[in-house]
Amino acid sequence: MRTDLSDRINNMSTSATLAMAAKARELRNEGKDIIGLSLGEPDFNIPEFIKTAAKQAIDDNFSSYTPVDGYGDLKTAICHKFKRDNHLDYSPGQVVVSTGAKQSLFNVAMVVLNPEDEVILPAPYWVSYSDIVKLAEGIPVEVSTSIDTDFKMTPGQLEKAITPKTKMLWFSSPCNPSGSVYSREELEGLAHVLAKHPDIYVVSDEIYEHINFVGGHVSIAAIDGMYERTITVNGVSKAFAMTGWRIGYIGAPEWIAKGCTKLQGQVTSGANAIAQRSVIAALEAPVSQIQYMIDEFHQRRDLVLQLLGEIEGFKLNVPEGAFYVFPDVSSFFGKTLNGVAIENASDFALYLLEHANVATVTGEAFGNPGCIRISYAASEEELKEAISRIAAAV
Ligand code: PMP
Ligand code: GLU
Repeated sequence: MRTDLSDRINNMSTSATLAMAAKARELRNEGKDIIGLSLGEPDFNIPEFIKTAAKQAIDDNFSSYTPVDGYGDLKTAICHKFKRDNHLDYSPGQVVVSTGAKQSLFNVAMVVLNPEDEVILPAPYWVSYSDIVKLAEGIPVEVSTSIDTDFKMTPGQLEKAITPKTKMLWFSSPCNPSGSVYSREELEGLAHVLAKHPDIYVVSDEIYEHINFVGGHVSIAAIDGMYERTITVNGVSKAFAMTGWRIGYIGAPEWIAKGCTKLQGQVTSGANAIAQRSVIAALEAPVSQIQYMIDEFHQRRDLVLQLLGEIEGFKLNVPEGAFYVFPDVSSFFGKTLNGVAIENASDFALYLLEHANVATVTGEAFGNPGCIRISYAASEEELKEAISRIAAAV
């Protein structure tokens, strides 16, 4: 009997973030004392008021299939959130609730892309973008940025990457993995280029919007001329520490929202009932309710930058949001550490796992082979210990 998988799945890479987290778990089960800084997952508990809403939903028997695009009152709460935080006027018909922002992104790719359509990905980009685009038979077109420009794509770079086949631009701000935050002026610069190319759509992944240490998150859809061509993606995994509850959503032109609902209706149906009910409470609460987590991430960022900055060979910028640092470690390439030859970022991340017992993720997975990603969604004690182990190992 043939047991070969489809070309589609064979051509896909395994998610490097999830693979590293699984490897760290496996080593821990073998008794190794691994500090996991590989997964982008807040280490806080879900705020109590959200748990209360979930328990209430169970008692109120929210147990049936949900509407494919999400409960109506949740979609209304999402519209209010978009208005309150992003100055965006979406109506419920433009909103689709999904099983995590990852599904939202997948839906959009499947609904908008035809084979061979090009999607511009400023690199570094979040690990799953390129595989999601490829699954939808699109072609990822990477635009490399470096630490020297704070890992941001300039309008000139965007202009150069556009071809007659360009269908979309995908990016995240605050960015996973670099933590970079695009300012209003920078977004206006990109919008200015796009104004000359009215057929290009934009996916703006804003899942880290609240984890922003400079304040003033700007949605590109709120910039002149961008609303009709932007799909704004968001979710509750990061800001509300609800990664396992799996709720994400989009605000988009209605025809795209309709397409996503049609797809979801054949794939997963509506998202989990209890999680959806609890997200109403999360989104209706003032942002001040989660400020303690943002403040803690801010402190940890400063700590991590200070400690990593003391290690020779780590080149750092100052990430303004999310909970990652993305040091350029290319100065180690071509060297031998403790008998191990380091040729690239994957070798370096593996070396840190085996010789420092610290799990990070290679920058190659994010389209930037000179860097590694370190998540600081961990306690100060763990971060101090991890970085002192890294310092000793290099
Ligand atoms: N976008 C970015 C930039 C992310 O870091 C994540 C984290 N997994 C996601 C989307 C997906 O989030 P989720 O599916 O947990 O909502
Ligand atoms: N977004 C997180 C990360 O980048 C979670 C892992 C994942 O969904 O791939 O680590």
